[in-house]
Amino acid sequence: MKEVILIRFGEIFLKGKNYFYFENTLYKNIVWRLKNFNLKVVRTEGRFIVSDFSPNQKEEIIDAIKHIFGIVSISIAYEIDSKVEAIYQIMKEITLDNTTFKVEVNRADKKFPMNSMELARELGHLLLEQNPTISVDVHNPKKVVHVDIRQNGKTYIFYDKIECLGGMPVGTAGESMLLLSGGIDSPVAGFLMAKRGLKINAIHFHSYPYTSEQAKQKVIDLANIIKKYTGDINLYIVPFTKIQEEIHKKCDDEYMVTIVRRFMMDIAERVAKTNNCNSLITGENLAQVASQTVEGITSTNKMAKDLVIFRPLIAFDKVEISKIAEKIGTYDTSILPYEDCCSVFLPKKPVTHPKLDRVEKNEKELDRELLIKEAIDNIEILHIR
Ligand code: ATP
Ligand code: MG
Repeated sequence: MKEVILIRFGEIFLKGKNYFYFENTLYKNIVWRLKNFNLKVVRTEGRFIVSDFSPNQKEEIIDAIKHIFGIVSISIAYEIDSKVEAIYQIMKEITLDNTTFKVEVNRADKKFPMNSMELARELGHLLLEQNPTISVDVHNPKKVVHVDIRQNGKTYIFYDKIECLGGMPVGTAGESMLLLSGGIDSPVAGFLMAKRGLKINAIHFHSYPYTSEQAKQKVIDLANIIKKYTGDINLYIVPFTKIQEEIHKKCDDEYMVTIVRRFMMDIAERVAKTNNCNSLITGENLAQVASQTVEGITSTNKMAKDLVIFRPLIAFDKVEISKIAEKIGTYDTSILPYEDCCSVFLPKKPVTHPKLDRVEKNEKELDRELLIKEAIDNIEILHIR
């Protein structure tokens, strides 16, 4: 009996003219994600089938597949030739105990000699005879035995559909630049936008020695965790110390945070544009902290002149964000206590409603272009593979 994994991508992108582009990208993503396993991936009749893998790698392969955006569900199935005797033979090997069940037949191959109703009835009888403790429940069965007779001459027999992440295949929406801090929010923001098809690059601002090597390592670790969903990430580490020192020296204390954030956004957009990104992503969230008031966000927003900024968490509560962080596996790393550069030289009372004229007046004290150029020239690029 040959075991295979059926991959369904549902009908989310079946409608548009770009269907083949989406399907093709998903196919490439699956092949790429499973490149370290010895196996075959074929497309057939609106789904993918993974086969010829070693049984002891099955769980690992399933886990990898469950992380791929664009996949709606999978099933572990037996693949056999579409012959009545072969289907009966498999049914004889199925053992069920103390459960209710039904057999559901889907016959895409209209040349198959029995129709769906007939076959379902016959197979149901067979299972009842063999398994005295089970009973049929057509409305609410605990187990559904699916028999899927495809046009390729093969039949697939399986019980369960395992729900996957859904979303769009990574890459179908182009590339984006995620402002990745070591906190809880930004990795979740990256995860959510990758789910809509964006390929993720990340940028991190680091103020060594005010922030530690561990703080940087934490960001690398976070990138390594979300990589399981997003695919490879180019991580741009920007040395931010000099900029923060200059702001601290020359600008009003209460405006520090606002100005720091504006530098981040400005640099992020420049790096994004030179690296073919079509957008920026942040973990910003309305009213979460002093800098995330409407005025605070408006003042950072102004720095991105050409690219849209996606803020997928803008309306989420922290509890909701934390739940997603736990689900995707970033939470435990995010709560490690290493300082982010935003907490360096933190004023006692940061302004919550920054006035744009005062922000700009403060910034005139700085040689912005020179500071930005120096920072960008000294970026360290890490390839999170
Ligand atoms: P997070 O949990 O993602 O750190 P936060 O609640 O701590 O978010 P802020 O510190 O106000 O929020 O940061 C808002 C957003 O700004 C972050 O979600 C992130 O996108 C970006 N950001 C903050 N600090 C950095 C940094 N050092 N490098 C890159 N981006 C940053
Ligand atoms: Mg933070």
